[in-house]
Amino acid sequence: MKVAVLGAGTMGNGIAQVTAMAGHDVTMRDIEQEFVDDGLATIESNLQGGVDRDKVTQAEMDATLARIDTAVELEPAVEDADLVIEAVPEQMDLKRDTFADVEALVDTDTVIATNTSSLSITEIASALEHDERAVGLHFFNPVHLMQLVEVVVPEQSSESTVAFAEEFVEGIDRTAVTVRDSAGFASSRLGVTLGVEAIRMLEEGVASPQDIDAAMELGYNHPMGPIELGDVVGLDVRLDILEYLREELGERFKPPQLLKQKVRAGKLGKKTGEGFYVWEDGEIVGTSGDWGDDA
Ligand code: NAD
Repeated sequence: MKVAVLGAGTMGNGIAQVTAMAGHDVTMRDIEQEFVDDGLATIESNLQGGVDRDKVTQAEMDATLARIDTAVELEPAVEDADLVIEAVPEQMDLKRDTFADVEALVDTDTVIATNTSSLSITEIASALEHDERAVGLHFFNPVHLMQLVEVVVPEQSSESTVAFAEEFVEGIDRTAVTVRDSAGFASSRLGVTLGVEAIRMLEEGVASPQDIDAAMELGYNHPMGPIELGDVVGLDVRLDILEYLREELGERFKPPQLLKQKVRAGKLGKKTGEGFYVWEDGEIVGTSGDWGDDA
């Protein structure tokens, strides 16, 4: 199959990598040559990491890279594509324009997918004339290591489009869950619910961040507790998602005051060195505030 991936950023280069690894011909497009080059360099480095850890053979790495073409113009990227996956920035107008521009250049049966993590796919799809070919393919970061892809079904999607998307996901050695287009899909809605309740427990003094995280890690086998995960994702990102979910789904997603205070103070988590934990060189070295320093 020929697959076009639009955007060579964090998600785009990962999607291009796993798609080419599964044997499809991929064209990865970004708007500047340097972004395309950066995306390709990330793919090379991830594959090299796989070779170093004996997860990928040198021959697989070479064959994967040989299947990835790059482009700065849209037309050569999408012409003859069986599937186009957009991973451009999270802005409704940009996504809608991208869908419409792609549709003008591809066959009527080309499936057009979006990797949006929060926008309404039904609204993005309505930019198309043949909107039955639209679908969400929600990959997770880092794409080459994460098993899940949510197949998100907008109002307009046809059964054959959904079946095509599910088969594509299985074919790239990922696991598909199929979700109706609704705020937060399945993954963010549940993940954020756990994260927000954990912050409310901190506000109520139920337990320290470490103990809340340990409860989920050791008691429920989560690889990472909800407070630490919030710090890793970014507390500003968490707050934005909560505000959106509150608007769409109601007051149960009301952002806790403590989360707002953290964001106002610029304590955004791992990326700023402090959130609910204190971070150094990507590792937790303590807790922020009065929770003790036994992290
Ligand atoms: P990013 O900023 O890393 O990459 C976006 C890339 O798109 C940039 O390189 C940019 O130059 C390029 N771009 C801008 N306009 C373009 C256009 N018209 N055509 C082609 N490329 C264009 O962003 P990202 O983190 O990869 O996110 C991309 C999408 O994936 C967003 O919708 C985001 O919500 C979603 N997503 C992100 C994550 C994550 O953890 N980062 C997870 C799941 C889904």
